[in-house]
Amino acid sequence: MADATEGTVCQSCGLPINAEDWPEGSERGEFCQFCMVHDAFVADRGEVKKRLADMIEKDSGKSREDAEEEAEETLSTLKRWQ
Ligand SMILES: [Zn+2]
Repeated sequence: MADATEGTVCQSCGLPINAEDWPEGSERGEFCQFCMVHDAFVADRGEVKKRLADMIEKDSGKSREDAEEEAEETLSTLKRWQ
């Protein structure tokens, strides 16, 4: 079932945010619960990139190098890192 949050991605890590994944204590915003808790960032760029690369590597079967490159490209498009 589609809802208004469909297509929303975290502007820190680039992963899709589901309605139940909005950070605790935060207004529904642009970041997921893994990046932000109580309106403060809890993951730095290295952690976010590693998490994203892990996911790409696992989902796509790409090499670690390619997964990290893709993660870097994704991060460079997100608001938090501008
Ligand atoms: Zn995130």
